[in-house]
Amino acid sequence: MRKLTKDERELVEGLKKQRVLLSVRGELLMGNNTTLVAVFCGDGDHSDDKFCHLKRESAGKVHLLPDNGGAIWLDPNFRAPDYSSEEWSGLQRRWRDRITGSVAMKGTNRVALMVHYPCGEVTGNFGMGINDLLASVVRAHWRVKNEVDEFLAGRVERGEAVSSTKIRVPTLFHHPHPTQDRGQTWWVNPEHAMFRHLRP
Ligand SMILES: [Zn+2]
Repeated sequence: MRKLTKDERELVEGLKKQRVLLSVRGELLMGNNTTLVAVFCGDGDHSDDKFCHLKRESAGKVHLLPDNGGAIWLDPNFRAPDYSSEEWSGLQRRWRDRITGSVAMKGTNRVALMVHYPCGEVTGNFGMGINDLLASVVRAHWRVKNEVDEFLAGRVERGEAVSSTKIRVPTLFHHPHPTQDRGQTWWVNPEHAMFRHLRP
């Protein structure tokens, strides 16, 4: 796993100073829930590091939904090449069902969406940079929030039990530590002025 370049480190430092990237708080990840649903890239070079971070910060159970690239698959503007329209719709439907099914099964209102950089899938295969990736996870945030809130409203209408009527979707960015053999995870603030144009 390569480290960030000097330019990439400076970009991340700038984003921290602008408060686009903030420290991850346990309350953000868990609230009153006992389980956090988490979408992330399952790359074995750092999946244990990210999982341990989520476990530590949430102080609860982590229900994983891994895929290469993590939350980019939920960005409504993202479209992987080599899929027909029907295949892509089916894939998107599957993602929605995985998330809503997990929320219902675990009775939680927290779904964390994580991306990381550099990532073999998004950096290597799709050529995305850090800013692309952050915009992608913020778009995914609004989409997942909207879809899960609709799903929960449907359950309420049908008289089915829900633990909450509104979902919270923490967006997370992970990158290698500059000197140590582990990573650092930040909360990407989707309400930041930098992402205002991405609000639905
Ligand atoms: Zn990855």
